[in-house]
Amino acid sequence: MTLQLNSQNLTELFREQLDSWEQARTNYEALDRVASKDVLVDGFPFKVQFNPARIVSSSAKVDAKSIQERRCFLCKENRPQVQKGLEYINGSDITNPYTVLINPFPIFPKHLTIPLLKHQDQLINGHFDAMLNLAEALPEYTLFYNGPKCGASAPDHIHFQAGNKGFMPVEKEMDKLDKEIIFRNSSSVLYEVKSGINGMLILKSDSKKESLEIFGKIYNVLDVKEGESEPMLNILCWFAEGIWNTVFYIRSKHRPSHYFAEGDANILLSPASVDLGGVFITPLEKDFIKISATDIRDILREVCISFEDLHILANRIKSIL
Ligand SMILES: [Zn+2]
Repeated sequence: MTLQLNSQNLTELFREQLDSWEQARTNYEALDRVASKDVLVDGFPFKVQFNPARIVSSSAKVDAKSIQERRCFLCKENRPQVQKGLEYINGSDITNPYTVLINPFPIFPKHLTIPLLKHQDQLINGHFDAMLNLAEALPEYTLFYNGPKCGASAPDHIHFQAGNKGFMPVEKEMDKLDKEIIFRNSSSVLYEVKSGINGMLILKSDSKKESLEIFGKIYNVLDVKEGESEPMLNILCWFAEGIWNTVFYIRSKHRPSHYFAEGDANILLSPASVDLGGVFITPLEKDFIKISATDIRDILREVCISFEDLHILANRIKSIL
């Protein structure tokens, strides 16, 4: 029988998995020793983490052919025997539970992967309510979603991740960023971010229902690139003091030119939610040493839409809210 998600079971799951699963234990222990450095980029305090175990994710082949040829590592039948999980039922949808798993390749001191039990494509449409509910059910964590072309290493299996709060700078920094209000009522406020990180929208709401409705409207005005299944997005969401905080990063590109560059110009970095939340992960030491504020700024400019394009988008959202 699978246990349900609650705080006590989650604490016990961590304890049990780090006890019985050598690979996970080794990687969590290594996390205590990873090097990190601070890099200020246009007033935003980024951290850079040198994390060799993340090479698996950063260099993951996520083209359709590679995905089709591998066994999905989020499907229950393919997961290691030793990996245990907790069941999470979203609302009343008992036929479609999620499973809360310990991520064996951590970035955070507490890092979860939360796939739907059923193997179906990574799409946020129709699943954002689960993200809001999970944020409420995991009040010590920030939830994140990487779109299929925005850093998800399993684009064929819907999943969220979660990391303990207090790790990503954006949680604290977002209140300090220069912002313009797109929409406000008694429950919700939606901002366009004007400084620091380009392509960023912030939604704060004490209503789950409104968060969902506003998300739906944002989603509907976003462009979908030809041949793709959804707009390019990374999303962070956390619940604190009765408020759902959601950060949307509107992407324009999957991997920056630095990823494909030859020689010295190469930086093996495939940005996803955590990088955009302020912690750039470099699996290779050469990149950790050389990456500069200019590199981080250039990568952000390449992978997320510009401040100008965001402003045009904000006006489109304003006209329908
Ligand atoms: Zn799967």
